[in-house]
Amino acid sequence: MASFFKNSIGVLCRNYPLVVSLKFERLRSSSAVFPQGMQKGKVAIVTAATSGIGLAIARRLAKEGANVVISSRKQENVTRALAELKSEGLNISGCVCHVGNEEHQDLLVNMTLEQHGAIDILVSNAAVNPFVGKIVDCSKEMWQKIFDLNVTASFLLPKHVVPHMEKQGGGSIVLVSSTAGYHPIPTIAICKFSVSKTALLGLTRTLALELGPMNIRVNCMTPGLTRTRFSTILQQSPGLNRMLTENLHIARIGLPEECAGAVNFLCSSDASEKFPRMPVKWHVISELF
Ligand code: NAP
Repeated sequence: MASFFKNSIGVLCRNYPLVVSLKFERLRSSSAVFPQGMQKGKVAIVTAATSGIGLAIARRLAKEGANVVISSRKQENVTRALAELKSEGLNISGCVCHVGNEEHQDLLVNMTLEQHGAIDILVSNAAVNPFVGKIVDCSKEMWQKIFDLNVTASFLLPKHVVPHMEKQGGGSIVLVSSTAGYHPIPTIAICKFSVSKTALLGLTRTLALELGPMNIRVNCMTPGLTRTRFSTILQQSPGLNRMLTENLHIARIGLPEECAGAVNFLCSSDASEKFPRMPVKWHVISELF
């Protein structure tokens, strides 16, 4: 586990059978929109985008010039996030989408196509961790819920989006997993969550192989412990917080904006053909299997 947590963000790369880690970089401090940005004119869907990592990803892609469509389960959260991002001058729209509801997924995709006529980027970010405890104590219903939301939703969303990307000549998909997907952490009893996140790594690899010939790139971003509502319990437990951060080179909890930077890179043209030739910025830490 120690070596696993040394870097806070991992990225599983398209058609490249290695797991690489991203070193933390200085964050962009400017809040300006970049009209000539890396995602200029692209259309992006980000799920679970009304707080935490999803919100940061939506903001970053929009700052880089994308039209971003956000969503989450609760209308009040969508309304609040839309107001926040629009007040920053960003091109944002949004709707309610519970990722476990296929009708909601349909609505999200259709609304995006009606508004923008294309989908270039899909970030499948939603996940739940409703049960803390050992796998053998997890009920079948709870197990099913975790897999429905954490894995099946990331299988269904690409099914809705890929035909449109194929017609357009390509696109980029990023699934959000977790470093726990590589190494479960029994101490914090979230092993069901870990198993679902491991499944996403496999889904990424297979989708990348299947969709690569359509010029659709599929990557996976795997955050370590990141400062969001989701990880509040871990952050509030002094022993756990110390154990986790002591095993990070940077010895601190990551920030959603750092995850957003990684996703922005993966969705950019910089990450397409050039990616395997970027040994300075990226280094290999392990193979998945
Ligand atoms: P967060 O701050 O708690 O935000 C969760 C977001 O998901 C909210 O916008 C919430 O809005 C939405 N949401 C929850 N259930 C949903 C559903 N069924 N359908 C659609 N939206 C839903 O969480 P986060 O930490 O940013 O986590 C984002 C992703 O990063 C997750 O996949 C998580 O597993 C992963 N991750 C996080 C950490 C970490 O330390 N934070 C570490 C590793 C991986 P509503 O309540 O309105 O639905």
